[in-house]
Amino acid sequence: MNEGELTGQVRTHITQVSDPDCALHAYVVAPFLNLRRAAAADGFDLAPISSFRDFSRQLAIWNGKFSGEKTMNDVSGKPLIASDLSLNDRIDAILLWSALPGASRHHWGTDIDLIDRNAAAPGYRVQLTQEEFVSPGPFALLAEWLETNAARFGFFRPFRGLRSGVQPEPWHFSFAPVAENARRALSPAILHDAIAAAPLLGKEEVLARIDELHARYVACIDWP
Ligand SMILES: [Zn+2]
Repeated sequence: MNEGELTGQVRTHITQVSDPDCALHAYVVAPFLNLRRAAAADGFDLAPISSFRDFSRQLAIWNGKFSGEKTMNDVSGKPLIASDLSLNDRIDAILLWSALPGASRHHWGTDIDLIDRNAAAPGYRVQLTQEEFVSPGPFALLAEWLETNAARFGFFRPFRGLRSGVQPEPWHFSFAPVAENARRALSPAILHDAIAAAPLLGKEEVLARIDELHARYVACIDWP
């Protein structure tokens, strides 16, 4: 992947899939469909809630939280008031749950947020909370199945709340063979340049901490 692809500013590496509706790195489509087929054989309708996400979408999420237009939560999920926090505290709070634009693994098309559509009652609004993925949550069985089977297809969970600074995301899976190359290629300098050119709120503070943020949220992930 080139710099634009690594930071989600172009989609030359992305293939649009119609069934199920998602956008993935060209090399991730077949492995994902194989994983989905195996899940279907065991009764799950494995569906991506989020797949490729570009830089501008991530920027909108970031600026929305930074400005207080979108809800920002603390580590226990309680809402925080943006204007009560210093700029650096806002950055830390956003990064518990959302990636820095340019640093989201969703930019690579290798990472997917997954649910079981068979387990969601009609009209159920998926929230992607940890409770949904443990018993008696609707996706507890899927979480268990993925824990056992995802690795056979090359997928793993980068966010378990162990080494990575991101909170545990039991729904977030990554195709290791492609994602690992991207993780190594996305340097602090590439991330710095992508952010420097963008209308990001808190930009000065983020750029001053770019090495620390890169180490904590890009370089450091959880292996099984
Ligand atoms: Zn995700």
